[in-house]
Amino acid sequence: MANEATLVIIKPDGLKKSLTGNILSRLAETRLKIIASRVLQVDEKLAVRHYEHLKNEPFFPDLIKYIMGDMHGENRVMALIYFGPDAISKVRQIAGVTNPEKADPVSVRGAYGRILTTGLFENVMHASSSPDEAEREIKLWFEPEEIAYELYPYQETILNAYKKKVWK
Ligand code: UDP
Ligand code: MG
Repeated sequence: MANEATLVIIKPDGLKKSLTGNILSRLAETRLKIIASRVLQVDEKLAVRHYEHLKNEPFFPDLIKYIMGDMHGENRVMALIYFGPDAISKVRQIAGVTNPEKADPVSVRGAYGRILTTGLFENVMHASSSPDEAEREIKLWFEPEEIAYELYPYQETILNAYKKKVWK
């Protein structure tokens, strides 16, 4: 079993329903390591890049609103990277399949997800589905310095005129 990294996102409905602790406990069963975590507000640019492979789907505009928190008055998500043997399939197993009504009832999506009247699957958490997808997503959500493990090659660069928030 090869070591893999996978991106988990606890979506706005997961935070709104106070499921963070529950989901982290379930994921702890895998004995995988958390190597990064952050709580953030998802802006439209990140939302669209994360779901760009679905941009032609009829539910895409709703999906973007959903991950940005517009449907829950809750604009936070929690993003984590899990690392270890077979991480992608182990985490997908705990998440359950995409459609919460078809998901195993003891999976996170099966237990806590729902289908909106619009048809959108509100399914509590995201989990990467392949090593290539995991790498693409992890590089979108995390900088090298935010990860407590050297996952992918990086380079050091000097940035000029780089706008950044610093404490007053
Ligand atoms: N989704 C949906 N209807 C669909 C397929 C996907 O509402 O028929 C939403 C759902 O929230 C899902 C997300 O779009 O989690 C991303 O879709 P994907 O096919 O990547 O499923 P996942 O990898 O999340 O299981
Ligand atoms: Mg997917």
